[in-house]
Amino acid sequence: MKMKRILVTGGAGFLGSHLCERLTEQGHDVICLDNYFTGRKKNVEHLIDKRNFELMRHDVAFPIYLEVDQIYSLACPASPIHYQYNAVKTIKTSVMGAINVLGLAKRVKARVLQASTSEVYGDPQEHPQKETYWGNVNPIGLRSCYDEGKRVAETLFFDYHRMNNVDIRVIRIFNTYGPRMHPNDGRVVSNFIVQALRGNDITIYGDGEQTRSFCYVDDLIEGMMRLMNTDSVIGPVNVGNPGEFTIKQLAEQVIYFTGSKSKIIYKPLPSDDPRQRRPDISLAKEKLGWEPVVPLNEGLIKTIEYFRDNLE
Ligand code: NAD
Ligand code: UDP
Repeated sequence: MKMKRILVTGGAGFLGSHLCERLTEQGHDVICLDNYFTGRKKNVEHLIDKRNFELMRHDVAFPIYLEVDQIYSLACPASPIHYQYNAVKTIKTSVMGAINVLGLAKRVKARVLQASTSEVYGDPQEHPQKETYWGNVNPIGLRSCYDEGKRVAETLFFDYHRMNNVDIRVIRIFNTYGPRMHPNDGRVVSNFIVQALRGNDITIYGDGEQTRSFCYVDDLIEGMMRLMNTDSVIGPVNVGNPGEFTIKQLAEQVIYFTGSKSKIIYKPLPSDDPRQRRPDISLAKEKLGWEPVVPLNEGLIKTIEYFRDNLE
């Protein structure tokens, strides 16, 4: 394989740190760019001494001047509590961030991959979701800064591709979990595991009958790298695990695998919380030869192990 210079924006975050690790192991020269809003140096500290890894503090809302062959655009807070903390900043990160990586890609003729999301489907009226579904998104709700920001980013990617011939890839990531999720991240898998390990109540929002499909991080990163390195499709491509679970089933599995005595309690459902979500991954199977191999129980056990070792 030819070694490349690769920029990973949001590289100190949950997904970014796993990606930087894989790319560094393959021998590429990796630049990890992050403003540390939700990311942590700790996530990549094991890479810092490697000669082919470099950390750069920068905000993607401002132009980036580097020379690289590939760009993975991951910078953006992903959990509702973090992306709603400063909604306007979240939109700037998605939109200005997309313009800046696309401008960079155009100048240096790099291939650029956008980490988009299943949230572009909103509260979906088609189930499971195929890439051809246009979505059902509230443009003015609490989740809109994230959902619409990601939708505009996709638009920008396709317009730069059509108008400026930029070499793009767009991945639509479905709920992904695993080691290095932030313990206060607020997403459901990390919340439930941390609550169970601390013996606190497990907080189900709503009746717990809403569904999600959870993908283990190693599977997701494999799919993302295959999309970046294929010539057979530019996207958007769904990457996620089609195993669909209710939030109540997830809570029960976490209690079972942690052996916790925590009780389940119910809290109000946040507004615009999608009722159901499951990826149709036929396109990823056909074009990338990819499908997930880690089932939820196995992934939960690994994630629980990580939190056991890392919670003070
Ligand atoms: P994360 O919050 O752990 O990582 C995001 C990273 O981006 C953090 O390191 C953060 O500090 C950095 N960042 C945020 N704003 C920035 C800015 N303005 N400039 C530079 N860096 C900035 O989240 P994650 O789960 O690793 O998600 C990574 C990407 O994947 C995001 O774009 C997210 O939208 C997308 N995604 C994730 C999931 C998931 O389930 N994990 C699902 C769909 C999409
Ligand atoms: N959720 C929950 N308890 C929590 C955190 C989340 O019941 O402590 C629910 C949330 O309302 C949603 C689902 O779990 O229905 C997934 O939430 P998450 O924030 O992980 O992802 P997203 O809603 O963005 O898919």
